[in-house]
Amino acid sequence: MKNIIIFGAPGSGKGTYSDEIVAKYNMGHISTGDVLRGEIKNGTELGKIAKGYIDNGQLIPDELMIDILAKTYDSLPKGQGVIFDGFPRTIAQAEALKKMLSERGDDMGMMIELVVDEETLLARLLNRAIEQGRADDNEVTIKKRFEVYHNQTAPLADWFEKEGIRNTFTWNGTKEAMLADIYACIDKNN
Ligand code: ATP
Ligand code: MG
Repeated sequence: MKNIIIFGAPGSGKGTYSDEIVAKYNMGHISTGDVLRGEIKNGTELGKIAKGYIDNGQLIPDELMIDILAKTYDSLPKGQGVIFDGFPRTIAQAEALKKMLSERGDDMGMMIELVVDEETLLARLLNRAIEQGRADDNEVTIKKRFEVYHNQTAPLADWFEKEGIRNTFTWNGTKEAMLADIYACIDKNN
């Protein structure tokens, strides 16, 4: 199984689709957002640092994030493929991921980009605020996260295009239809 990078704006469904893909293909899963929320919950030093950034809708600094990613990756069983959910979010992180994997005789596999219009994203995140109570799912922080996404993360799509591994899926109103397209893409690329 090849590695998969799942890419998209806040609320685009990275976590939701990752869970489905992980169950179907029995892959490893790294959600950097979940890792950071776990650290905050456990009151670790890293969690304290991360909270300041997350609550402001900002990205955690690259050096810190790259270190966390490598440690998490090395803790997973080998040979099953890993889905990277929420990482990379900057060009520096993407370059670091490529290098980290190649040092381990592995590669990025394929990138799956989820494209969803901003109105739908906002509605989903506000709904998630009610269901899950995530501190950063409030309107002010959401707007900041969109801005950070546009400025720092969206340009990465072209970087993946140049790597020749970009696969784009645009929200068409049903999760099942989108998932079927994604599975077809994964099967073709494996
Ligand atoms: P969703 O999970 O719905 O797609 P999201 O992408 O905003 O939404 P997470 O991926 O859970 O949510 O990330 C939440 C926050 O954690 C980010 O806003 C950021 O502060 C921090 N974070 C997560 N991943 C990274 C990363 N790769 N680099 C820097 N900061 C990160
Ligand atoms: Mg998520």
